[in-house]
Amino acid sequence: PDFLLSDFNTLRVLGHGNGGTVYEVLHRRSAAVFALKMVRADVSLRHQVQREVDILRRTVGCRHVVRFHSLVRTPSADVALLENMDRGSTDALLRRRGRRPFPELALAAVARQALLGLAELHSRQIVHRDIKPANLLVNSASEVKIADFGVGKVLLRSLDPCDSYVGTCAYMSPERLDSVTYGADYHPYAAGVWSLGLAVLELHQGHFPLLPEGVPPDWAALMVAICLGEAKGVLPEGAASDEFRAFIDCCLRKESGKRWSVAELLGHPFVSGADRDESKQALRDFLQENSDESPVLKEPRKLGQIPPISI
Ligand code: ATP
Ligand code: MG
Repeated sequence: PDFLLSDFNTLRVLGHGNGGTVYEVLHRRSAAVFALKMVRADVSLRHQVQREVDILRRTVGCRHVVRFHSLVRTPSADVALLENMDRGSTDALLRRRGRRPFPELALAAVARQALLGLAELHSRQIVHRDIKPANLLVNSASEVKIADFGVGKVLLRSLDPCDSYVGTCAYMSPERLDSVTYGADYHPYAAGVWSLGLAVLELHQGHFPLLPEGVPPDWAALMVAICLGEAKGVLPEGAASDEFRAFIDCCLRKESGKRWSVAELLGHPFVSGADRDESKQALRDFLQENSDESPVLKEPRKLGQIPPISI
């Protein structure tokens, strides 16, 4: 069902993305809070939004994918009403902590739920293609869900690796970046496993793990680090538990055929250990300690009064 923008008040800005802004909004009549993603109605972006919406519609029922409610198109903007993930992205959490790493136990709960999300997507033949900390969102029920289908793609009968040259290069697997060397066994699900492993490792290290701390990722350095670098050197012995190091190793194998599948990873000791409740509790505690203090707008404005997009 469609919604009226004028039924909502904006509470605060949740984040900015490539082409738009995400607001936390209050539906006045029901007092329910949602996330509202506004994307400037640019012809080129419109295509992307439509694709995202088509995919989002097919994810209804996925427990670990951000719930999509509805889309409204105005002349100036496309507006998607989404489930509010009130603890924001894991990326923002990390920044808020001054890039102090996530504790391993909490990370086990993040990794497990992200894997469950990937499994749900793959069972619907959906490839996400942009797994990274900014697209792993958390809520106060300690649930982790995958967001942002702007570059997702419905897996059709024939796979076209060339068409997959989108997304955030830093989290791309070797076979996506260098199809000559690694492209022979390109499989989009395995590419998602790489990105997930890298995202989890980043949360563990506090910074993008394939480059020295503080180095802004440039294209050439990334190519070298991802395709030529020694992934094993990433996590020195003693820097993490054996389970965690083994888990990362299973995700970050350069040859995609040797990487574990999502189903296999769900059985990995790091995420399937007996202390699953403990890791969920660790995530809960972690979120409590790192709650967001980003200001709520003092005088919530009616959405209709907000200029649709400001980038
Ligand atoms: P990009 O392409 O850079 O990843 P995008 O334009 O596709 O960004 P999103 O990733 O969907 O936009 O959203 C940008 C940011 O807004 C996220 O990183 C997150 O911090 C926040 N955000 C998005 N959706 C939600 C949501 N449902 N609940 C809470 N916060 C959200
Ligand atoms: Mg995003």
